[in-house]
Amino acid sequence: MNGRLETLRRLQSIDTQLRRLEGDKLYRGYDVQKKLALIQQKKTELTKLNEEAKIFQKNVGMKELDLKSMETEIAKLRLQMNQVKTNKEYSAIQAEIGGKEANKSVLEDEILGMITKYEEMNQRCKAFEKTIEHESLQLKELQKHVEADLTTLDAQIQELKKKREKYTSLLDSDALQQYNRLVSHKDAVAVVPVVNKVCQGCFMSVTAQTLNQLLSGKDTTFCHSCGRILYLHNDNETSEEEEK
Ligand SMILES: [Zn+2]
Repeated sequence: MNGRLETLRRLQSIDTQLRRLEGDKLYRGYDVQKKLALIQQKKTELTKLNEEAKIFQKNVGMKELDLKSMETEIAKLRLQMNQVKTNKEYSAIQAEIGGKEANKSVLEDEILGMITKYEEMNQRCKAFEKTIEHESLQLKELQKHVEADLTTLDAQIQELKKKREKYTSLLDSDALQQYNRLVSHKDAVAVVPVVNKVCQGCFMSVTAQTLNQLLSGKDTTFCHSCGRILYLHNDNETSEEEEK
Protein backbone atom coordinates (compact mmCIF):
# COMPACT_ATOMS: atom_id res chain seq x y z
CA MET A 1 0.00 0.00 0.00
CA ASN A 2 1.39 3.40 -0.88
CA GLY A 3 2.19 5.90 1.81
CA ARG A 4 -0.46 8.38 0.86
CA LEU A 5 -3.17 5.75 0.96
CA GLU A 6 -1.95 4.55 4.33
CA THR A 7 -2.11 8.11 5.63
CA LEU A 8 -5.63 8.52 4.24
CA ARG A 9 -6.70 5.33 5.96
CA ARG A 10 -5.30 6.53 9.27
CA LEU A 11 -7.00 9.85 8.79
CA GLN A 12 -10.29 8.10 8.11
CA SER A 13 -9.87 5.96 11.18
CA ILE A 14 -9.25 9.06 13.30
CA ASP A 15 -12.21 10.91 11.81
CA THR A 16 -14.49 7.92 12.40
CA GLN A 17 -13.41 7.84 16.03
CA LEU A 18 -13.83 11.59 16.34
CA ARG A 19 -17.33 11.36 14.94
CA ARG A 20 -18.21 8.61 17.36
CA LEU A 21 -16.84 10.58 20.30
CA GLU A 22 -18.77 13.70 19.28
CA GLY A 23 -21.88 11.50 19.07
CA ASP A 24 -21.19 10.12 22.54
CA LYS A 25 -20.87 13.65 23.87
CA LEU A 26 -24.21 14.57 22.38
CA TYR A 27 -25.91 11.48 23.81
CA ARG A 28 -24.55 12.13 27.28
CA GLY A 29 -25.98 15.62 27.02
CA TYR A 30 -29.34 14.18 25.96
CA ASP A 31 -29.41 11.98 29.06
CA VAL A 32 -29.32 15.07 31.27
CA GLN A 33 -31.86 16.91 29.13
CA LYS A 34 -34.22 13.94 29.22
CA LYS A 35 -34.05 13.75 33.00
CA LEU A 36 -34.53 17.51 33.31
CA ALA A 37 -37.59 17.36 31.07
CA LEU A 38 -39.02 14.48 33.11
CA ILE A 39 -38.63 16.40 36.36
CA GLN A 40 -40.12 19.52 34.83
CA GLN A 41 -43.11 17.51 33.65
CA LYS A 42 -43.61 16.04 37.13
CA LYS A 43 -43.39 19.50 38.67
CA THR A 44 -46.10 20.73 36.32
CA GLU A 45 -48.26 17.75 37.28
CA LEU A 46 -47.66 18.46 40.96
CA THR A 47 -48.72 22.08 40.56
CA LYS A 48 -51.92 20.85 38.93
CA LEU A 49 -52.55 18.35 41.72
CA ASN A 50 -51.96 21.01 44.35
CA GLU A 51 -54.39 23.34 42.63
CA GLU A 52 -57.01 20.62 42.42
CA ALA A 53 -56.57 19.88 46.12
CA LYS A 54 -56.94 23.56 46.94
CA ILE A 55 -60.18 23.85 44.98
CA PHE A 56 -61.42 20.69 46.63
CA GLN A 57 -60.59 22.08 50.07
CA LYS A 58 -62.55 25.22 49.24
CA ASN A 59 -65.56 23.08 48.28
CA VAL A 60 -65.32 21.22 51.57
CA GLY A 61 -65.28 24.58 53.35
CA MET A 62 -68.41 25.64 51.50
CA LYS A 63 -70.22 22.41 52.42
CA GLU A 64 -69.20 22.93 56.03
CA LEU A 65 -70.76 26.41 55.93
CA ASP A 66 -73.94 24.85 54.52
CA LEU A 67 -73.90 22.42 57.42
CA LYS A 68 -73.49 25.27 59.94
CA SER A 69 -76.44 27.18 58.53
CA MET A 70 -78.50 23.97 58.57
CA GLU A 71 -77.66 23.53 62.23
CA THR A 72 -78.62 27.13 62.93
CA GLU A 73 -81.96 26.62 61.18
CA ILE A 74 -82.62 23.45 63.15
CA ALA A 75 -81.76 25.22 66.43
CA LYS A 76 -84.12 28.05 65.50
CA LEU A 77 -86.90 25.56 64.73
CA ARG A 78 -86.34 23.87 68.08
CA LEU A 79 -86.76 27.23 69.82
CA GLN A 80 -89.93 27.87 67.83
CA MET A 81 -91.21 24.43 68.70
CA ASN A 82 -90.99 25.25 72.40
CA GLN A 83 -93.08 28.36 71.92
CA VAL A 84 -95.97 27.04 69.79
CA LYS A 85 -99.47 26.86 71.22
CA THR A 86 -101.08 24.00 69.28
CA ASN A 87 -100.24 20.39 68.71
CA LYS A 88 -100.71 20.90 65.00
CA GLU A 89 -98.05 23.62 64.86
CA TYR A 90 -95.82 21.50 67.03
CA SER A 91 -96.15 18.50 64.70
CA ALA A 92 -95.51 20.68 61.65
CA ILE A 93 -92.28 22.05 63.10
CA GLN A 94 -91.26 18.61 64.29
CA ALA A 95 -91.72 17.28 60.76
CA GLU A 96 -89.71 20.16 59.37
CA ILE A 97 -86.91 19.48 61.84
CA GLY A 98 -87.03 15.80 60.89
CA GLY A 99 -86.61 16.69 57.22
CA LYS A 100 -83.73 19.05 57.95
CA GLU A 101 -82.02 16.52 60.22
CA ALA A 102 -82.20 13.99 57.40
CA ASN A 103 -80.67 16.50 54.97
CA LYS A 104 -78.03 17.35 57.52
CA SER A 105 -77.06 13.73 57.93
CA VAL A 106 -76.72 13.33 54.15
CA LEU A 107 -74.54 16.45 54.02
CA GLU A 108 -72.40 15.22 56.91
CA ASP A 109 -71.75 11.95 55.09
CA GLU A 110 -70.89 13.89 51.98
CA ILE A 111 -68.44 16.09 53.86
CA LEU A 112 -66.80 13.05 55.49
CA GLY A 113 -66.38 11.47 52.07
CA MET A 114 -64.90 14.68 50.72
CA ILE A 115 -62.46 15.00 53.60
CA THR A 116 -61.27 11.43 52.99
CA LYS A 117 -60.77 12.24 49.32
CA TYR A 118 -59.00 15.50 50.20
CA GLU A 119 -56.60 13.60 52.44
CA GLU A 120 -55.92 11.17 49.62
CA MET A 121 -55.21 14.06 47.31
CA ASN A 122 -52.78 15.52 49.81
CA GLN A 123 -51.06 12.20 50.17
CA ARG A 124 -50.70 11.93 46.42
CA CYS A 125 -49.15 15.40 46.34
CA LYS A 126 -46.68 14.41 49.04
CA ALA A 127 -45.78 11.19 47.23
CA PHE A 128 -45.27 13.22 44.10
CA GLU A 129 -43.03 15.67 45.93
CA LYS A 130 -40.95 12.74 47.18
CA THR A 131 -40.63 11.34 43.66
CA ILE A 132 -39.49 14.72 42.38
CA GLU A 133 -36.99 15.00 45.20
CA HIS A 134 -35.67 11.54 44.37
CA GLU A 135 -35.45 12.32 40.66
CA SER A 136 -33.65 15.57 41.39
CA LEU A 137 -31.04 13.70 43.42
CA GLN A 138 -30.64 11.24 40.57
CA LEU A 139 -30.24 14.16 38.19
CA LYS A 140 -27.43 15.58 40.32
CA GLU A 141 -25.65 12.23 40.26
CA LEU A 142 -26.18 11.94 36.54
CA GLN A 143 -24.86 15.45 35.95
CA LYS A 144 -21.73 14.58 37.91
CA HIS A 145 -21.17 11.44 35.84
CA VAL A 146 -21.89 13.21 32.58
CA GLU A 147 -19.50 16.02 33.45
CA ALA A 148 -16.76 13.48 34.16
CA ASP A 149 -17.57 11.61 30.95
CA LEU A 150 -17.50 14.81 28.94
CA THR A 151 -14.11 15.71 30.37
CA THR A 152 -12.79 12.28 29.37
CA LEU A 153 -14.36 12.50 25.94
CA ASP A 154 -12.93 15.98 25.39
CA ALA A 155 -9.48 14.76 26.33
CA GLN A 156 -9.78 11.88 23.86
CA ILE A 157 -11.02 14.28 21.20
CA GLN A 158 -8.08 16.62 21.79
CA GLU A 159 -5.69 13.70 21.55
CA LEU A 160 -7.19 12.53 18.27
CA LYS A 161 -7.20 16.05 16.86
CA LYS A 162 -3.47 16.27 17.51
CA LYS A 163 -2.99 12.96 15.72
CA ARG A 164 -5.20 14.20 12.93
CA GLU A 165 -3.00 17.25 12.45
CA LYS A 166 0.02 15.00 12.24
CA TYR A 167 -1.53 12.96 9.42
CA THR A 168 -2.98 15.88 7.52
CA SER A 169 0.48 17.48 7.48
CA LEU A 170 1.73 14.37 5.69
CA LEU A 171 -0.74 14.81 2.83
CA ASP A 172 -0.40 17.15 -0.12
CA SER A 173 -3.08 19.79 -0.32
CA ASP A 174 -4.86 18.12 -3.27
CA ALA A 175 -5.23 14.79 -1.49
CA LEU A 176 -6.34 16.52 1.68
CA GLN A 177 -8.92 18.58 -0.18
CA GLN A 178 -10.25 15.47 -1.91
CA TYR A 179 -10.46 13.67 1.37
CA ASN A 180 -12.14 16.54 3.18
CA ARG A 181 -14.67 16.98 0.40
CA LEU A 182 -15.53 13.27 0.46
CA VAL A 183 -15.81 13.19 4.24
CA SER A 184 -18.24 16.08 4.26
CA HIS A 185 -20.39 14.62 1.47
CA LYS A 186 -20.29 10.86 2.06
CA ASP A 187 -21.59 10.40 5.60
CA ALA A 188 -18.11 11.06 6.98
CA VAL A 189 -16.69 7.98 5.27
CA ALA A 190 -14.20 8.84 2.54
CA VAL A 191 -11.85 5.89 2.57
CA VAL A 192 -13.28 2.38 2.33
CA PRO A 193 -11.96 -1.13 1.73
CA VAL A 194 -12.83 -3.32 -1.22
CA VAL A 195 -13.87 -6.74 0.04
CA ASN A 196 -14.59 -9.53 -2.44
CA LYS A 197 -14.52 -6.95 -5.23
CA VAL A 198 -17.26 -4.97 -3.52
CA CYS A 199 -16.85 -1.35 -2.39
CA GLN A 200 -17.72 -1.23 1.32
CA GLY A 201 -18.95 2.33 0.98
CA CYS A 202 -21.77 1.78 -1.52
CA PHE A 203 -21.72 -2.03 -1.77
CA MET A 204 -21.44 -2.01 -5.53
CA SER A 205 -18.99 -4.28 -7.36
CA VAL A 206 -15.89 -2.52 -8.53
CA THR A 207 -14.77 -2.79 -12.15
CA ALA A 208 -11.86 -4.94 -13.28
CA GLN A 209 -10.08 -1.73 -14.21
CA THR A 210 -10.50 -0.36 -10.71
CA LEU A 211 -9.26 -3.60 -9.27
CA ASN A 212 -6.17 -3.55 -11.47
CA GLN A 213 -5.45 0.00 -10.45
CA LEU A 214 -5.77 -0.99 -6.82
CA LEU A 215 -3.46 -3.95 -7.29
CA SER A 216 -0.84 -1.78 -8.93
CA GLY A 217 -1.00 0.42 -5.83
CA LYS A 218 0.29 3.49 -7.65
CA ASP A 219 -2.42 6.15 -7.70
CA THR A 220 -5.31 6.96 -5.48
CA THR A 221 -8.23 4.84 -6.68
CA PHE A 222 -11.81 6.02 -6.48
CA CYS A 223 -15.00 3.94 -6.53
CA HIS A 224 -16.74 4.50 -9.87
CA SER A 225 -20.13 4.34 -8.12
CA CYS A 226 -19.79 6.41 -4.96
CA GLY A 227 -16.52 8.21 -5.58
CA ARG A 228 -14.92 7.17 -2.30
CA ILE A 229 -11.22 6.44 -2.01
CA LEU A 230 -10.62 2.68 -2.14
CA TYR A 231 -8.03 0.35 -0.71
CA LEU A 232 -7.71 -3.39 -0.94
CA HIS A 233 -8.78 -5.24 2.13
CA ASN A 234 -6.09 -7.62 3.23
CA ASP A 235 -6.55 -9.96 6.15
CA ASN A 236 -2.81 -10.10 6.74
CA GLU A 237 -2.68 -6.42 7.48
CA THR A 238 -3.06 -5.15 10.97
CA SER A 239 -6.61 -4.10 11.65
CA GLU A 240 -7.78 -0.52 12.01
CA GLU A 241 -7.90 -0.99 15.75
CA GLU A 242 -4.28 0.14 15.74
CA GLU A 243 -5.40 3.77 15.88
CA LYS A 244 -6.97 3.30 19.29
ZN1 LIG B 1 -18.44 2.80 -3.75
